[in-house]
Amino acid sequence: MQYISTRGGMEPTEFCETLLEGLAPDGGLAVPTQLPAVDADTLESWRGLAYADLATEVIGLFATDIPRDELSAMTHAAYSAEKFPGGIVPLRDIDGGITLVGLSEGPTLAFKDMAMQFLGQVMEYALERRGTTLNIVGATSGDTGSAAEHAFRGKKHINVFMLSPQGRMSGFQRAQMFSLTDENIHNIAVDGVFDDAQNLVKALSGDLEFKRAHNLGAVNSINLARIVAQVVYYFWAWLRATDGRGRLEVSVAVPSGNFGNILAGYFAKGMGLPIRKLVLAANENNVLDEFFRTGLYRPRSSQQTLATSSPSMDISKASNLERFLFDLLGRDPQRMNDAWAELDANGVLDLTAELPRLAGEFGFGSGTSTHADRLATIKAVYEATGDIIDPHTADGVKVARDYVEEGVPMLVMETAKPAKFQETITEAIGVEIELSDELREMLDAPQRVVEMPNDERALRAYVSDHAAH
Ligand SMILES: *Cc1c(COP(=O)(O)O)cnc(C)c1O
Repeated sequence: MQYISTRGGMEPTEFCETLLEGLAPDGGLAVPTQLPAVDADTLESWRGLAYADLATEVIGLFATDIPRDELSAMTHAAYSAEKFPGGIVPLRDIDGGITLVGLSEGPTLAFKDMAMQFLGQVMEYALERRGTTLNIVGATSGDTGSAAEHAFRGKKHINVFMLSPQGRMSGFQRAQMFSLTDENIHNIAVDGVFDDAQNLVKALSGDLEFKRAHNLGAVNSINLARIVAQVVYYFWAWLRATDGRGRLEVSVAVPSGNFGNILAGYFAKGMGLPIRKLVLAANENNVLDEFFRTGLYRPRSSQQTLATSSPSMDISKASNLERFLFDLLGRDPQRMNDAWAELDANGVLDLTAELPRLAGEFGFGSGTSTHADRLATIKAVYEATGDIIDPHTADGVKVARDYVEEGVPMLVMETAKPAKFQETITEAIGVEIELSDELREMLDAPQRVVEMPNDERALRAYVSDHAAH
């Protein structure tokens, strides 16, 4: 299996090479030359597999340059009962014919762990093979940074420098990151807001000499290995939801931000998994809902992005959408480049001519959920079932309800656990969530963080002093 760039400027590369590179040299994103196909018999033969073994099968179709036994060791290390004490992607029914797919049983209680745990394994492997080290420098406002730190803690050849805006994360998020004491994890609280932290990271990674000298890298949502690892749970969820019912179509609703999670579902469907509808759920930052309803893609600036009660979906420029647009535009890099030029010139990309194909050929549906919807949905599910769902999952459930069809199981991706978002849960149902002993311990643990002014020189000096070589 080889990978090319959506903008046409990259020689085909293998999986391991691609996963270390981030953006392609032409600014595009890596996509497979052709999606692997999974026929009905193969799919059926996977029913009895444990999650890690299914992951070996599915990821193995993409990572053809990794020997099977090595890949199997990685998936078993990533998807263990120890890392996922609540089970590895359990399914549970709620009201209204909806089934939740539990993606948030990992160390940071959000679905980012599903991909990040595998990324930690495969990055260590790929770096060792290449005989090099990596210094991950990133900025986070919460979920991604903590998932990365928990996945890369204690890894050889890899250091993590994670910048966060001082005093602007929740106590829960701070504890998740700052309680880590591993030598290779560096938490840096910047005196500023998230964009300041992000700009510092951009300044460092934009300095090619510094970047090369210190082997800087990123693990952001466009990373190919993250998408591939996410494809696995679509297969898993289908196999569980249709157990004993044969080759049945299901629909899947996905709380979305950067279009990474639902893109993995789109890949799974393209590989032959019987998915009827892929339903994109947005919050008030509903750029993608607008696109799938109208064919107009109109990204917004960070100033125009609202701070909502499903904060991990507060994104107005979906970095992974390019991978889908590439297919929509006939996998033609010239049309892709023209599209971005049109967007740059007009502030909007007009794909209304393709609108019928979005719902038809590609099977997308979409909808928006607001703060009031979120609260009402959390309350309704709680009253009907006693189950407490998190605000992002509630956005998924709200939008999914409009797409439920007789005889078609509707799966909603549970992208976080409610304990992370206590405030909104209390607002919705007046209930305090009981924390496990482990969580309480984490919240009370001593914290380790370096405070830093919003100053590029200070960051350079710190990274130089502490980088892995
Ligand atoms: C990251 C995240 C999302 C959005 O996922 P994308 O892959 O960016 O679309 C939704 N919910 C939660 C809780 C998240 O952490």
